[in-house]
Amino acid sequence: MKGTFIHGSKDIWFEDRPEPKIEKPTDAIIKLSATCVCGSDLWPYRGINKIDKPMPMGHEYCGIVQEVGSAVKNVKKGQFVIGSFFASDNTCLHCLNGYQTSCQHREFVSEAQAPYLRVPLADGTLVPTSEVPSEELIPSLLTLSDVMGTGWFAAEAAQVKQGSTALVVGDGAVGLLGVLSAKLMGANRIIAMSRHETRQKIAKEFGATDIVSERGDAGVARVKDMTKGIGVDSTLECVGTQESMMQAIQSTRPGGYVGFVGVSHGVEINGDQFFYSHVHLHGGPAPVRRFLPDLIGRVMKREIDPGKVFDLTLPLEMVAEGYKAMDERRAIKTLLKV
Ligand SMILES: [Zn+2]
Ligand SMILES: [Zn+2]
Repeated sequence: MKGTFIHGSKDIWFEDRPEPKIEKPTDAIIKLSATCVCGSDLWPYRGINKIDKPMPMGHEYCGIVQEVGSAVKNVKKGQFVIGSFFASDNTCLHCLNGYQTSCQHREFVSEAQAPYLRVPLADGTLVPTSEVPSEELIPSLLTLSDVMGTGWFAAEAAQVKQGSTALVVGDGAVGLLGVLSAKLMGANRIIAMSRHETRQKIAKEFGATDIVSERGDAGVARVKDMTKGIGVDSTLECVGTQESMMQAIQSTRPGGYVGFVGVSHGVEINGDQFFYSHVHLHGGPAPVRRFLPDLIGRVMKREIDPGKVFDLTLPLEMVAEGYKAMDERRAIKTLLKV
């Protein structure tokens, strides 16, 4: 089979690689129904993460179980399953506390932009749907593997509640799904920071009530203006840069919460500034495994349509173009058909 590798900055190859096999009795092999490119894949693509040797790519996946190892009990051949970008046993104390992305036995899944994938710790990692879903639900189910679960965690970590005022920093797929999550958790005002018309439109469809196109200090000033100088209750930080993190902390009211899920790149927090902000910070790699049963149910009942964030669909062999389109911000998120 062929799979996706990154060889260097802006250098994506779709090339030969052996088909994955069961390596441990706890593994499963799935045939992907669809996979996609993640905003976080752009960090190595843009040369911000160093690449020493060709690396396989892809960590968002859903598909049909082909084969399971001898120790796998909860997942069966023929089931449609979704898993997180970190495989987890779902039995250690970190997992039981709901932080499966900190599982003591976690393994990063990094070969999913391919037709077949080996998933470690299959019993803990994979959640089957009640039945094999129809084709039109696949994009929404695929988002649960990362971006929807990550947006959900951002809203949860930011303590969005009924009646909250929420701010979302970042208009990528995670930010947009953070808007949807904040809406589902009952926020009555949701301010989305975005300067792109197509993204503003989706943010509004997902429940944004206000759009702020200013950034940095001007963005903070605008949010303060809109909240009578107070700041918002909850901020979802979905970018991971110094500017976005400062924008998030400074826009939040004393006693408010920042949920940060943008993969942190060079963020430094000034102790004095943080001390006097009175803001709670919680975030990190989203434990999407915890949210899968609930979110799968919502998609299967057609209550939510997070798959709207896919605005480009390509055959898997055109994966390089999928990266390019996202890098150039021509696409929000690329779905790859297997
Ligand atoms: Zn991702
Ligand atoms: Zn665990």
